[in-house]
Amino acid sequence: MLLPITLALLAPSTQAADEGTNQLVRIHSQNPRQLATDLAHEGFDVLHEGVDADGAVGVVVSPDERRRLEARGLALEVESTGRPLRDILPPPEPGDGVVPSGYPDLAGILAALNAFAAAHPTRARVVDVTATYGLAPTFQGRHLYALVISDNVAVEEDEPSFLLVSAHHCREIVTPVIALDTIERLLSGYGSNAAIRAAVDEYEIWIAPLWNPDGYEHVFNVDNLWRKNRRTFAGGTGVDLNRNYPFGWGNACAGSSSPSSSTYRGPSPASEAETITLMALSEAQRFEKVIDFHSTGRETLWGYACPTAPIDAYWRQEAATLSQASSYGGAERRPSADGEHYHWQFVTYGSMSFLTETHSSFQPSYASAMTEASNVWPGTFWLLQRAMPLRGHVTHACTGAPLRATITYVSPVFSSGEANSSALPYGRYHAFLPPGNHSLRFEAPGFAPRTLQAPVSAGATTALDVALTPLNTSGTVFCPATANSTGQVPTITSNGATSLGQNQLQLTADRLPAQEVAVFLLGQNETQMPMFQGVLCLGRPAYRLGLLNTGATGSVQSTLDLSQSPLALAAGTTVAYQLYYRDFAGGGTARNYSPALRLTFCP
Ligand SMILES: [Zn+2]
Repeated sequence: MLLPITLALLAPSTQAADEGTNQLVRIHSQNPRQLATDLAHEGFDVLHEGVDADGAVGVVVSPDERRRLEARGLALEVESTGRPLRDILPPPEPGDGVVPSGYPDLAGILAALNAFAAAHPTRARVVDVTATYGLAPTFQGRHLYALVISDNVAVEEDEPSFLLVSAHHCREIVTPVIALDTIERLLSGYGSNAAIRAAVDEYEIWIAPLWNPDGYEHVFNVDNLWRKNRRTFAGGTGVDLNRNYPFGWGNACAGSSSPSSSTYRGPSPASEAETITLMALSEAQRFEKVIDFHSTGRETLWGYACPTAPIDAYWRQEAATLSQASSYGGAERRPSADGEHYHWQFVTYGSMSFLTETHSSFQPSYASAMTEASNVWPGTFWLLQRAMPLRGHVTHACTGAPLRATITYVSPVFSSGEANSSALPYGRYHAFLPPGNHSLRFEAPGFAPRTLQAPVSAGATTALDVALTPLNTSGTVFCPATANSTGQVPTITSNGATSLGQNQLQLTADRLPAQEVAVFLLGQNETQMPMFQGVLCLGRPAYRLGLLNTGATGSVQSTLDLSQSPLALAAGTTVAYQLYYRDFAGGGTARNYSPALRLTFCP
């Protein structure tokens, strides 16, 4: 009887609600399946397996959660109590290769990434993602890292990107091992395996073995059952990083709203540095394919927890194929919750994205983790090689310049805010869509929107490049004009008809002295040279178009026949116009200029 009292006296009064380590407990009940469902719904960390062979529910609980369950009259059987992983694992042996010969700690993972890059400097580089995007570090001040593998890895090329990310949940220590093993296979296989070489040449492959470094340190040094990050709140510690992404964050299938829960979704969507950093990386890289590794369960997850999507059957079938290739026999399911990382990737960027639950144990022997990595690799490679259903580039129809465009699915009809877009610097986009005849709408500010058919065939890539024609081609005014003898600064505008097919362009200049001679100049070489009473904006050669008169209103308008232009015009050609006019109104022999107008012609 003395022991609990002693512990109570030792406990500081400021102790946080969940101080102390987690425990893995088994709970027997009359209806274990219902209990597992209920507890998961309440935000308890129910093991993926749910009910075990003895009819008990496995749950990882914090001390606070344990008290809450006991208060409900449930009998908890403690299977294990969290303790430092370092005390459990055999110490790693000195490295005999770049992959550590035992579970790597945080420093070991970073050292492995740096060793890979050093050994393969033309095909691998380490990216400090936190620093690259100028973002805040984790709660405990750490940066997040990834290794990029590609041909010409130092150069950002116009290639699709692939993301493998592990250990959003830090106790799932098999998953960084799988990530490092994948790196090893890609880099060592490049020289000898034509298929690996082709994949590495085609893709920029981003591998992030550990997305929860604060938690991983806690697992190694304090509590091997810890799952969340380590941000502290008044009511508890840690956010479940795979519940913190914006999609479905607040819906009925979201993570817990209680900071003491193991599935705490965080105070707001994307509240965590880890989430923000992966979102920033994804916005820049636009990953065409994503695999997010977790444990345990040996199955592949697809879709959303609450909403449904018109691609569900296809997504499920692809997940089953990925699971099969990963040695998991085609096992697949919907996710446990919304707010997860992988489905955010599809919802935001149309990515081919999955979550695979690896192994049957969080922390098996290292040899067993390596066997798992070997078994999972064919699945990862299948995903790399799998034909992306739809991809292309969006460009400016006149200049060919890449465009950032909004892409809307007209059909199939999505209803959960699923978005898509092309991104700079290459205007590249992609869409994970089932076989069928789809319809997509492409829009960019200042361009005529286009709705296009997008036929997708099973197992093949449809390449759909989209050129958008500018809506308002009224041009850009450049080169400042001076006030003329009327005290006004002239203006120059066009009717925006820069289509060579339409052939007629109307130019107007206003705020001119009345009844004076004027002429439009045409040229391609822009300059700014003081001349007479104004500024000449066109260098040589410049062409004079027809003579005009400013009339009673001090204005000229001219309709140009583009086919008769003294300067040959083609789609993409950029030219400038400027008005040259006599300005006698104030007396003397003044001549003056309007500002210049730059226009680009379209087909
Ligand atoms: Zn997990």
